[in-house]
Amino acid sequence: MAAGVRLARRRRAPGPPAARPTAEPHGPPTAPAARETRTEPRRKAPPPAPVAEADREADEARKKEAYRQKKEAEHEERERRRLEREEEERLAREAAERAAREEAEARARAAAEEHRKAEAEGGKTLAAGLAKTRSGFMARLSGLFGGGRPVDDSVLAELEEVLFTADIGVKTATHLLESAREKVRRRELSDAGRLRAVLREDIARILSLDGGATADGASGSPGPARPWVIMVVGVNGSGKTTTIGKLAARLNAAGHKVLLAAGDTFRAAAGEQLEVWAGRVGVPIVRGKDGADPASVCFEAVQRGVAEKADVVVCDTAGRLHTKAPLMEQLKKVKRVMAKAAPGAPHEVLLVLDATNGQNAIAQARQFHEALGVTGLVLTKLDGTAKGGVVIGICDELHLPVRYVGVGETVADLRPFSPAEFVEALFA
Ligand code: GDP
Ligand code: GDP
Ligand code: MG
Repeated sequence: MAAGVRLARRRRAPGPPAARPTAEPHGPPTAPAARETRTEPRRKAPPPAPVAEADREADEARKKEAYRQKKEAEHEERERRRLEREEEERLAREAAERAAREEAEARARAAAEEHRKAEAEGGKTLAAGLAKTRSGFMARLSGLFGGGRPVDDSVLAELEEVLFTADIGVKTATHLLESAREKVRRRELSDAGRLRAVLREDIARILSLDGGATADGASGSPGPARPWVIMVVGVNGSGKTTTIGKLAARLNAAGHKVLLAAGDTFRAAAGEQLEVWAGRVGVPIVRGKDGADPASVCFEAVQRGVAEKADVVVCDTAGRLHTKAPLMEQLKKVKRVMAKAAPGAPHEVLLVLDATNGQNAIAQARQFHEALGVTGLVLTKLDGTAKGGVVIGICDELHLPVRYVGVGETVADLRPFSPAEFVEALFA
């Protein structure tokens, strides 16, 4: 068997090589000849008619088929090109859309950066203003929270020490400590990290006056009455005149028609200082003679505010030590007389407190509130003190809304107070 196969192979093998030399030289040129030889028999010997007819039909069918195939190929080619074109167009469209999107994003980024820069140049952020407070009692609090430490008596004892030596006041420190103790008792505090969250919630609640901080003017805008009359009070050096200047700039920039009253006639310099602010901001000011009755200056200002249809009248007042009875009596009189010039005035009694005074500010606030019925607070000089926690004590003890905080001396450094922002900045 095997021998037979081998023999057959050997016999066949020489075949093709022998045939190639003769076939190759004739390769292409022989084609027409071949066709001729193929058609020759047809011409010479006419085949029976049915066969020729069948051949012709077959040829016809072949041609039709070839034509169909050609058309189909053309159609496919056209279709392919159309799809290609569509794909190219789609890609181009997508690229254009992507470019537009990227450009819009870049524009938004640039705008945000501009805004950030303007903010940075235009005034300190609250977070920057609270840097000292954060490194003070907040840093000591933060020391308690780390490391997944369980909340035990030693943690609570440390918390007590930090809270009572912070400037938030004994009453508020007690509230916060009691709240933490209560949660430990109810086993709601698994670790010290959770304690941080609980303190944060408690402080946020105190600052928002249990939700009441959104009353009139909390956003820093004047209330509905026209003119909206603001009487600004506080001890000397607390920052009244500076705050009025900053406030006038804010209100003026917001499109309100502002009028200032130099109600601190006790010191000549005070009137001059407010006049400088009025000139800088570009708002009118009512200034009496030095030593004039402050009530008459404020009366005149409110009257003029009514006549000239001012949106806001802001009255500065003197601030000799609040412990001297005559100051409170004088301020009461100013307040009374304002109401004669416009019913309901003053609509806001804004007490300016220097945060660097710490707990002393709470005592001041209580006395001013008793005498005048304070309706809103401004805490100044937060930038210069680690005693920013005093804001918490003031809100907790007096339940008076903080309208603004001062975080520097420039015109842009007066910020409307937002409890959420304050807590965020404190716990940052
Ligand atoms: P007034 O006596 O209550 O009218 O107090 P002034 O407006 O004259 O302010 C007393 C000083 O406190 C001035 O030197 C102000 O520049 C400064 N001052 C006021 N507010 C702020 C503040 O928010 N931050 C800082 N750093 N200084 C302030
Ligand atoms: P009170 O009696 O202590 O409540 O106050 P007054 O009525 O004596 O007013 C105190 C000051 O406010 C006066 O000296 C006036 O300068 C001013 N004042 C009060 N009422 C009027 C008023 O109707 N017109 C004007 N121009 N000033 C007034
Ligand atoms: Mg002043």
